[in-house]
Amino acid sequence: MRKKIVAGNWKMNLDYPTGVSLFSEIVNMVKDEIHGEQIVVVCSPFIHLHSISALAKDVTNVFIGAQNLHQEEAGAFTGEVSANQVKSTGASHVILGHSERRAYFGESDELLAKKVDIALKHGLTPIFCIGETKEERESGDFFQVIKSQLQQGLFHLSASDFSAIILAYEPVWAIGTGLTASPEQAQEVHAFIRKVISDQYGADVAAETSILYGGSCNPKNASDLFSQKDIDGGLIGGASLKSRDFLDIAK
Ligand code: PGA
Repeated sequence: MRKKIVAGNWKMNLDYPTGVSLFSEIVNMVKDEIHGEQIVVVCSPFIHLHSISALAKDVTNVFIGAQNLHQEEAGAFTGEVSANQVKSTGASHVILGHSERRAYFGESDELLAKKVDIALKHGLTPIFCIGETKEERESGDFFQVIKSQLQQGLFHLSASDFSAIILAYEPVWAIGTGLTASPEQAQEVHAFIRKVISDQYGADVAAETSILYGGSCNPKNASDLFSQKDIDGGLIGGASLKSRDFLDIAK
């Protein structure tokens, strides 16, 4: 059975002490309220990773992730952070291909394929984001856009490497806008993604891949979205900055 996952993306928010204290609240709430197979991942800025990993050490269903990494192993790349460095903090996951990285930092599918490779090499689980812009949705091209993001970012992987990937479908028009895809719209795309994976890697790999929905998830809309057959949880931005909202979504 594929994993049910709720991941928080703090983006470039929270100074060091505020992040550590929010994370402590989240861990305590998860311990009390979330049981069973479901996992929670918190993707923080680099500055929090080491401290919050230490706080989560003995909690089996909470994991820590970064939001980016550099595609090279090490060296003269001032200001960058490597996969090995992320891993050494105790983090286990990394968001790659977020639409903000694609749009504001020019990250191409080709670059993202390299980042996926180095993340996997260092034992980090990519949470790989795909999704169409408003124009692409309106023009009707969005299935092709999503298929191409999968093919170019991920389909160079072997089936066994691909099995380590978590996907997040995040329609760009729904991120931080308060506009959520309807459960039916999201399910339609998730089913399409699973079909594309099945065509490439077979039905078993497709059935085991967790596909999260992201884009203005909140405690009110989460259960309708997450009850869809092919939606295995969420990637949560704004609402992950409030411990109660984040836990209510996870529950
Ligand atoms: P949002 O962000 O929940 O604030 O829309 C989601 C994301 O960017 O991952």
